[in-house]
Amino acid sequence: MSLTPTACTNPHASELQRLDSAHFIHPFTDHGDLATRGSRVIERAEGIYVWDSEGHRMLDGMSGLWCVNAGYGRKELAEAAYQQMLKLPFYNSFFQTTNEPAVRLATKLASLAPAVSGPTGNWRFDHVFFSSSGSESNDTNVRMVRRYWDLKGQPQRKVIISRHNAYHGSTMAGASLGGMSGMHAQGDLPIPNITHIGQPYFFENALPGESEADFGLRAARWLEEKILELGADKVAAFIAEPVQGAGGVIIPPATYWPEIQRIVDQYGILLVSDEVICAFGRLGHWFAYEKFGYRPDLVTFAKAVTSGYIPLGGVMVGGRVAQTLIDQGGEFNHGYTYSGHPTACAVALANLELMERENLPGRVKDDIGPYLAQRYAELNDHPLVGVAETCGFVAGLVLVKSKTRGADGRMQLFPEDLAVGMKCRAHCFKNGLIMRAVGDRMIIAPPLTMTHAQIDELVGLIRQVLDLTLAELKAAGHWG
Ligand code: PMP
Repeated sequence: MSLTPTACTNPHASELQRLDSAHFIHPFTDHGDLATRGSRVIERAEGIYVWDSEGHRMLDGMSGLWCVNAGYGRKELAEAAYQQMLKLPFYNSFFQTTNEPAVRLATKLASLAPAVSGPTGNWRFDHVFFSSSGSESNDTNVRMVRRYWDLKGQPQRKVIISRHNAYHGSTMAGASLGGMSGMHAQGDLPIPNITHIGQPYFFENALPGESEADFGLRAARWLEEKILELGADKVAAFIAEPVQGAGGVIIPPATYWPEIQRIVDQYGILLVSDEVICAFGRLGHWFAYEKFGYRPDLVTFAKAVTSGYIPLGGVMVGGRVAQTLIDQGGEFNHGYTYSGHPTACAVALANLELMERENLPGRVKDDIGPYLAQRYAELNDHPLVGVAETCGFVAGLVLVKSKTRGADGRMQLFPEDLAVGMKCRAHCFKNGLIMRAVGDRMIIAPPLTMTHAQIDELVGLIRQVLDLTLAELKAAGHWG
């Protein structure tokens, strides 16, 4: 659907809009539509706010794209990049060479990732493979998982199970692992040996009268059913986000992850935790598997490892896989030019030090996370809100046409073509708030530096845009 044109009054910005439309192919964008509306030119940022070319200040409820966990304007991150660029901007790690920032960052990450122990063994995350993004890291996971099973003498274990509506990136492997039907529809995806089960979305998928706990168990057992359908000896791994992000902040019931762990243990398959969004304090821990208490073999990270100041991603490799790959594997024929990029690693180190000093994961766990949860829950009284929920410092709310449950036990949703989420998002932009719409789920993932007063401001803005959306729906005859 088309939004209101983004008129630029400033001639410099108008020229940028023209050039943007002429030359820049944006990710996930309908260019015909964009050309008629024009891009919003974002000029600068400080703390939790960004400013566009017209001087409008917006509270960035999405931390850029789930990444600016430390907030904007952190001079020490710019300084770390500057100093490293002067000393050694780049060198590769392919031919028996290494560099200090990459070594120090791998060591630091190994110290931050908690060890795990359970019936299938105890292991640490002492090894890190570096990439430049979440997508590349998940490509690495596919290579590592399959290589692992080859080395274990079980090359028939090829299938990786993921979930519908998961997001794991946009490369061929990343988009295949992801469960976005719109992405699969372009480019002949998924690639072979990747399959999907349902997501643990209680609001949408629970049966009438089913408790959240029972639904969590039922959703986890879809994995068991799929393993049995395929044959356990064919299954290599299960990959999942601890809390689904791009799919709309889908927070699994508390019973989900323990049951998933039971199943992967029982059938001896690897578990990949895609923490591209959830790591580095987002859920109140350095790594989200700690929060939910499960034991992954591989952990994907990217985004907030540098608070988004420079691209960097990677995979934390658990002992069970690392020992096989390193001790028995010989050469692993995989790597990227920028694996262990010195400047990116230097920025990540400075960012992790900053997060440690300011105790950002701890603040989310004990202070601002609970405060956001309390303030967010108040939004449940709004007539448009079916449910408003948070987990650490991510939150989602569903816009509904009526809270009264029908015979199927569900609240009444708006017709899809009304695009109510997009209407709400337009009100957000007009009123100085960046919130994302996934269908009619409005989601946020704000910087972890927010004060209580800023959380009050955020929740006040959300209530204001909900009121405006409701007024628009009423005026157009779509309400009541
Ligand atoms: N995995 C998850 C869970 C993500 O949220 C994302 C990006 N939003 C990716 C992978 C892909 O990361 P990137 O865009 O850096 O390739």
